Amino acid sequence: MKHLDQQRVLLVHPLGYQTSAAKADIARKANLMPPLGLASIAAYLEERSKKADIIDCFAFPMTAERRLKTYLELLKPAWIGFSCTTSSFLDGVRLAALAKEVLPDIRTFCGGPHVSALREKLLVDYPEFDYLVVGEGEETLFQLMDKPENGPTIPGLSFWNAAGKAEFSGFREIGIELDSLPFPAYEKLTGFPKTYRLPIFNYPKAPNTSCISSRGCPYSCSYCDRSVFRRTFRYNSAAYLYRHLEYLKNRFGIRHVNFYDDQFTFNRERVTELCQLLQARPLDMTFNCAVRAEHVDGAMLEMMKKAGCWMISLGIESGDAELLSRHRQKVDLDFMAEQIHLIKKTGIRVKGLFMVGLPGETTESVKLSINYLKSLPIDELNVAKFTPFPGSPLYENIHSFGSFNEEWEKMDCMSFQFIPEGLTNEKLEKLFLEFYQAHFKRPRTLLNYITMLKHSPDSWLRFIANLSSFLRFARHSDSRMLK
Ligand code: SF4
Repeated sequence: MKHLDQQRVLLVHPLGYQTSAAKADIARKANLMPPLGLASIAAYLEERSKKADIIDCFAFPMTAERRLKTYLELLKPAWIGFSCTTSSFLDGVRLAALAKEVLPDIRTFCGGPHVSALREKLLVDYPEFDYLVVGEGEETLFQLMDKPENGPTIPGLSFWNAAGKAEFSGFREIGIELDSLPFPAYEKLTGFPKTYRLPIFNYPKAPNTSCISSRGCPYSCSYCDRSVFRRTFRYNSAAYLYRHLEYLKNRFGIRHVNFYDDQFTFNRERVTELCQLLQARPLDMTFNCAVRAEHVDGAMLEMMKKAGCWMISLGIESGDAELLSRHRQKVDLDFMAEQIHLIKKTGIRVKGLFMVGLPGETTESVKLSINYLKSLPIDELNVAKFTPFPGSPLYENIHSFGSFNEEWEKMDCMSFQFIPEGLTNEKLEKLFLEFYQAHFKRPRTLLNYITMLKHSPDSWLRFIANLSSFLRFARHSDSRMLK
């Protein structure tokens, strides 16, 4: 134990599947997001005199394992931590075991939505981890690294007690004040910002990045896992956010930011103040954000447009009002359509986020969604395959709504692991394909992509560079559907 550096931690973002599959993963080519949670933890720890580094296996799948071993052998950290989703959790377990092979005394921990949802139950089945970090990690990890002997009294930890039983120390009741956090340690992400990329046609300029300015969400949709931040909703002030954007611009040359917040416009005052700052002292940057329809209005949109807002995403989920009202609050599809038209009228692009396969979904309900989509002036579309993640309200009783194959590695929203009663996997895949076809066959969509030659030339360059992969993927999807 003494030969390890007690002040040093290696933070790892696992790939989540076999390295050999990474080259063919079209999702990685289309969208590669920096692990901002790890970068925030690294910055927080470094500010308190700990040494933290990050290995992003997702960004560098071919060399990550070798880099990880070399790091452990050379720098001998006493700590290694993994940030895992449900689909990447078992890869995190594998890497934790590997770390213990290289340094048997290293202490391993894991955080992220999957462990926050399942907590100490997971420790029992996966003793490769010494600790699980439940909820946000900054304070918990600092306190653990600083005084490991206090483990049982540090809120937000699942740990092994003296009797060898898995225990949970309890939730951290007060969330960290977000303006007190240092900016994420972007510089610890190899090749940032060029390594990372927003989805093609989702930005006007490069380099670009995602940025988080809030934590949590005040709503409670049935399909959403909110285990990490629970019911809290906190956000950075407009002044902090402006400084953050200024830092990204000056230090990394970032020209466009995607706010990866669930409710960017929830606090109107904050948005107003930020827009005023961006207009008074322009940074020559644009931004995207996600909103709920009830949290935007004409005056706010005008302000956002002037401040550089390029695209807004809205979680529409379904065009079947009855189905939707079973799963989320305040369903009004007419109002949603009005708001989408208003955003377009302001000159901001719209991305519609839909979901297929929720409990209660039928062929008719998907057709309603497709018809609804066709009635909307949507520029970009994302259709997720509903997946019941641990921690979401639906997860508890999911078996009463259909069949569920709980293979964590496959739970990445790229396949239907849950099949609603009355449907089959083949049928769902066919409807899913029809959904995208309905979007891409619209003349307005095609025209829109042509205009992107002017408005997002970098996207076109990426599209052409990866054309063979995209065509292979499209052909493969088509042939699977025809079977
Ligand atoms: S789906 Fe969106 S609005 Fe609903 S609880 Fe999750 S983050 Fe909040």
